Amino acid sequence: MKNSNSRRFFMKTLALSAAALLVAPVLKIQSAFSEPVKGDDPLVKALGYVANAKDSKDRKDAKANCGSCQFFQGDAKAKTGKCQLIPSGEVAVTGWCRSYSVKQKKA
Ligand code: SF4
Repeated sequence: MKNSNSRRFFMKTLALSAAALLVAPVLKIQSAFSEPVKGDDPLVKALGYVANAKDSKDRKDAKANCGSCQFFQGDAKAKTGKCQLIPSGEVAVTGWCRSYSVKQKKA
């Protein structure tokens, strides 16, 4: 009887450990996406991304920012969101980069 309980406990522990190993990488990826992009990211530098569009000397359209860009994936009312071009983190809605392309309105 005691062996049966030990075996059951071992099997439950093994199953929980395996589940934790499977879930951990997913959680890590999600947390990486929810962090703001880092300025030292070579892609961020190459695109000339700035968290505040007003800080860019290259921006020609005064209304252009990540929130109105076709590559922005998220709620424009939020402070940050994912950019299809910068996978290392989230960009600021108020941000901007040289790959900005205005989001087309749905017909
Ligand atoms: S591509 Fe668009 S959403 Fe991505 S950083 Fe540049 S301006 Fe922002």
